[in-house]
Amino acid sequence: MIAGIELGGTKTVVALGEADGRVIEEHRYPTTDGPETLARAIAWLQERGIPERIGIGAFGPISVNRARADYGSLLATPKPGWRGFSVTGALAEVFPAARVAIDTDVNVAVLAEADGLDDVAYITIGTGIGGGVLADGRLVHGAVHSELGHWFPRRAEGDDFAGVCPFHGDCLEGLASGPAMKQRWGREARDLGDEPRAWEFETHYLAQAVLVLLAAVNPARVVIGGGVSQAEGFHGQVEEKVRAAAQSYFAALEENSPFVVPPQHGQQAGIRGALLLASS
Ligand code: ADP
Ligand code: ZN
Repeated sequence: MIAGIELGGTKTVVALGEADGRVIEEHRYPTTDGPETLARAIAWLQERGIPERIGIGAFGPISVNRARADYGSLLATPKPGWRGFSVTGALAEVFPAARVAIDTDVNVAVLAEADGLDDVAYITIGTGIGGGVLADGRLVHGAVHSELGHWFPRRAEGDDFAGVCPFHGDCLEGLASGPAMKQRWGREARDLGDEPRAWEFETHYLAQAVLVLLAAVNPARVVIGGGVSQAEGFHGQVEEKVRAAAQSYFAALEENSPFVVPPQHGQQAGIRGALLLASS
């Protein structure tokens, strides 16, 4: 029995599935505090048996480095009832024989979207910007996980917006997240279809994220998901800017086309990735 759990900021999904990521049965419910949210997943699983493997994709910040004593625990999150809560601990208490693995929501999404490739990156643009990386077939993290939304891009010409990141102002997330677009243009990103300048800026910043990933980890493909990426023509516009700036410098970009793509599994990427993590 293989189980997957996707812990999201607003909703949680628990599922039974196959080693290849296919979902057999799933259950969705709103995320509340740590103990209650895990108790609901555990009760659902117990009604169905005892899982041998459990994979979890979770919102962060979360400790995902097995070498650390706090592996599997939420770190300094403002979300009530989660800080210091051990997700893996709660599961191990009830299922002591299960092999439990946890990673970030974006890293498990990379697993789901890798499609047989060993080198893939994933960026999501919604309320925040996050990213995950699979390099040489392994999910990348250091002491903690990547924070691919929090670095400082070069400004688009004519852009003097201060940015909305509470920590850094004009980091990538501060300039290009959903809330950044809303603050900058006075409308939700989903309602900005008639504002080409908004998408000039937005794709300029996302192209830089792709260029940073190309320089750092040489993926064969960059998947961009999240609500904001659903704008019409988004991926093609990002790719065009990436190619114009790269000047044929990066082999990975020359060898792979299209390079910037939407997710194939959409809303199912998280739970599929959790099942794949359980089996990896
Ligand atoms: P969350 O981080 O809460 O999961 P989402 O990934 O759902 O957020 O992204 C929400 C953002 O996506 C909002 O800023 C919304 O305006 C924007 N959005 C949703 N649909 C579209 C669309 N079709 N085109 C552009 N932006 C969109
Ligand atoms: Zn920031």
